[in-house]
Amino acid sequence: MLEKIKELRQKFESQLTTAKTAADLEALKVQFLGKKSPIQDLMKFLRDVPEQQRPATGKLINDLKEYVAETITTTQNRLIEQEENSRLVDEKLDISLPGSNSYPGRKHIITQTLDEMLDILIGMGFSVQYGPDVDTEYYNFEALNFAPDHPAKDMQDTFYIAPNVLLRTHTSNIQARAMETSTPPIRIIAPGKAYRNETITARSHVIFHQVEALYIDKNVSFADLQATTRVFLNKLFHTDTEARFRPSYFPFVEPGMEVDIRCLSCKGCGCPLCKQTGWLEIGGAGMVHPNVLKNGGIDPEAYTGFAWGLGVERIAMLKHKINDIRLFSDNDIRFLKQFPG
Ligand SMILES: [Zn+2]
Repeated sequence: MLEKIKELRQKFESQLTTAKTAADLEALKVQFLGKKSPIQDLMKFLRDVPEQQRPATGKLINDLKEYVAETITTTQNRLIEQEENSRLVDEKLDISLPGSNSYPGRKHIITQTLDEMLDILIGMGFSVQYGPDVDTEYYNFEALNFAPDHPAKDMQDTFYIAPNVLLRTHTSNIQARAMETSTPPIRIIAPGKAYRNETITARSHVIFHQVEALYIDKNVSFADLQATTRVFLNKLFHTDTEARFRPSYFPFVEPGMEVDIRCLSCKGCGCPLCKQTGWLEIGGAGMVHPNVLKNGGIDPEAYTGFAWGLGVERIAMLKHKINDIRLFSDNDIRFLKQFPG
């Protein structure tokens, strides 16, 4: 009997060394302390032990039982502690590690430039009007006094979607619509995308952005056009920019002109940016053609107006010394992140 108790203890101890997990320990507990365990069997055999030795033997069996139970509990606790420690090691925070960078979204440089232009013009009393990118030939051309055989109407220059339906070639279609629906005084700016079927180069693209201004009222003169344009350009370029107006032809204005500003880079001495001319072209302008007013239901005898249009890409390129218009649509993060806004 004593021999059996000793064997059982040794068996338990050897099995304990191989128990690595909580499940192993649970299995060991069932094996040694369960209803059909060898320790329970020993209790059954206790009645065969001579009476004088029975209390002492019973105590030995109970001691073994307690020993097994206590050892398992102690081992279980140690295991829990080890797991906790290794978890803490895993989760240890190293405050000397560099933080992970986050790149929050930002406005595209074209949107930033457009917003700045609109802010200035709104401050000067203009209100913003939007119009459709896809429009009819009438609003894009005819209402704006383009002759039926004007070369701009050619498929080579314009993206047609269906006969008489096209992607607008300028945001002037908004002006044509505004004249139809409102009565003077009209003082609006028309921002948006314009589309032209051109070869993509460093200087021109098939999609670009425009901001056009239109002011129609009684006695609006060329002096108003010049003054408004100058004030706007000075605010936009944060400098006392000298502007000049060169005669040019656009069907919707009479007289029409190109607007140049003194080269921002060389201040007029001549440099590669201005191709040694000392001037930079920035847009077109003019007095609204009487036919355009008539098409919009406005009496050209009673009212006059001016209009001008600027390319937003062109302005952004001049302001930030960007030499290729394609950079705006390349989606190169190295370019875009240079303009945090
Ligand atoms: Zn220059």
